[in-house]
Amino acid sequence: MTAATGTVPGMRSSPRVRCEDCDFAWYGATAAHGLRLIGACARCGGPLAFLAADEPAPSAAPPVTERLAGLSPAAVLGTPTTWAR
Ligand SMILES: [Zn+2]
Repeated sequence: MTAATGTVPGMRSSPRVRCEDCDFAWYGATAAHGLRLIGACARCGGPLAFLAADEPAPSAAPPVTERLAGLSPAAVLGTPTTWAR
């Protein structure tokens, strides 16, 4: 372990995924998501080190819970201030 490879939060140059075999690094969220699905390096098939925290996929829609299906917007968002007078 070397101090030079430590990741600093907020550093834009930090790769999201890095191959432990060929040391190739990916910086894009889309690439990181694809590699997470594949589970191996796209170049050499080696093991991957995921460095960034999990984030929701850009194409994935948020799950809709059935509990909210029949509710009015006010029940979810709170009573509008105009109604509280
Ligand atoms: Zn590789």
